[in-house]
Amino acid sequence: MDIIGIDLGTTNSVATVYTEDGLKHISFDGDFLLPSVVNVSNDGVIVGVKAKNMAMIAHENTAISIKRLMGSKESITLNGKEFTPQEVSSFIIKKIKESAEQEMGEEYNRCVVTVPAYFNENQRDATTQAVKLAGLEVLRVINEPTAAAISYGADRDEDILYGVYDLGGGTFDISIIENSEGLIEVLSTTGDNNLGGDDFDKKLANLIWEKSGFDIELTKKLEIKLNQLAEKTKIALSNEDSVNIDEKFFAKKDGKALHLEVEVTKEEFEELIKDDIDKTIDLLLETLEESNNDIDDLEAIILTGGSSRIPSITDKILERTGKLAILIEDPDKSVSIGAILQGAMIEGVDTDSILVDITPYSLGIATLKGDYDMELIFSKIILKNTPVPTTKTSRYYAVIGYQEAFEIDIYQGENEENLDANIKIGEMLLKVENPVADGAIDVDFRLNQDGMLSVIGREIHTNEIIEGEFKTKISKSTKHSKIEEMDILTQHDKIIIEKINTILGNDTILDEDKEDLKELKKKFLSVSSDEKAPIEEEIIDTIFFLEDI
Ligand code: AMP
Repeated sequence: MDIIGIDLGTTNSVATVYTEDGLKHISFDGDFLLPSVVNVSNDGVIVGVKAKNMAMIAHENTAISIKRLMGSKESITLNGKEFTPQEVSSFIIKKIKESAEQEMGEEYNRCVVTVPAYFNENQRDATTQAVKLAGLEVLRVINEPTAAAISYGADRDEDILYGVYDLGGGTFDISIIENSEGLIEVLSTTGDNNLGGDDFDKKLANLIWEKSGFDIELTKKLEIKLNQLAEKTKIALSNEDSVNIDEKFFAKKDGKALHLEVEVTKEEFEELIKDDIDKTIDLLLETLEESNNDIDDLEAIILTGGSSRIPSITDKILERTGKLAILIEDPDKSVSIGAILQGAMIEGVDTDSILVDITPYSLGIATLKGDYDMELIFSKIILKNTPVPTTKTSRYYAVIGYQEAFEIDIYQGENEENLDANIKIGEMLLKVENPVADGAIDVDFRLNQDGMLSVIGREIHTNEIIEGEFKTKISKSTKHSKIEEMDILTQHDKIIIEKINTILGNDTILDEDKEDLKELKKKFLSVSSDEKAPIEEEIIDTIFFLEDI
């Protein structure tokens, strides 16, 4: 099977393939988690843990949390070159494809890729483009909590109703799912595309900075270092009541080292994220109501996504719902497992389960309402929580005789009264070849299993079929060559050595500091590549400190 299951995460990505001996997680620099970080240098592109390290010393060439920009028109400049978010993401996918091929000795041409359930049309479209740019065909796009549900439900025979609470690095999704006789049915889903572990890191970073008492400017470089430290502290606080941060050379002022010595308690951290967690539980209860079920009907709440390891989440859920949530086995891997199992189901390899997914939001159009003061309102065509694929038809009447085209603005959202409270996802122009005096068209809105919309119209008098060109808001990148020409570097040791040499050649740096760096360089060159990671971290830290900050 030439399919990869890809969980393209905000912070980390995970990839799984299907083998005769079972599922296999692809490894990247010795770990199954691939940090979703991309660094572009003159030599090429680095993806993963090494790019994450480079973020500290070359932040202007490094993209982190690119998933947050997917579907937007923003571009990002790395090493003087401009990239769309989908181009940056495609580097991550390309690294996955290449690593899988290298490790498995097979070619992979297709993938099932996951997206947050609450990703809109533009964001799904951008994800699909990223996959294609990386040279893979998209077999299916599935929702992350649905993928987690597949991995949870795959080897369970009993019929149950459960919630999947998925809190990752950048997004939160909640789905209510029913497993019944091999059918995995998503009943309702809601989410927040801007809530996740990255936000907790930022809040904790602010607290650490406040507590540090440092009277220096927080530069971009320092901010990245502070965020990475905050993430480490946050993860430690999932197991400990307090963490003592002790960083001797954290920053520099007037040529002197500033020692960061701060204690952060679990209680302080929980207070920082309290409102966010409450919001996720509000959404859980809303979603449950939308599925026409009661909290007592729910047999389990499954936690997935890296951030759901924060213990106060389980406590809060218990406090507010009376349910003991359970952390899915291997929360980091469950989404990509679900993705590859879905790929296997499509291929007919594992036909035990059938998936019925839904659209997490309503889709509709802008229409005019009113007798005297006409105003634009939002008319829903495909309702939230409708199973996909689905087709709904809507009729449009011409406003003038022999009208040659119908222009339709498509929106996504739930507010019918206030059009602007919804998101415009694109527009469509339906051109009629043979206009008639009192024209009218029926328009089919088709939402496929990937949650992607296509439209087709029919003139009701002449039966003429009108292909509508649905334009989403993001521009399609045609610059495939840019991705192809930029080789992914599997070896970036050369860059590290070059960085060291630049520092060693700098006259303003003290000899004793240079000696330390020389020692590290020697160690770095003498160990095997598997052992390089901790030394590289130390080198980056030292370079970060010695360079002007
Ligand atoms: P995901 O997008 O599912 O890979 O989740 C990534 C997020 O989970 C990041 O923000 C991580 O910092 C966070 N994370 C991973 N492990 C833990 C942990 N033990 N405690 C708290 N957050 C964690």
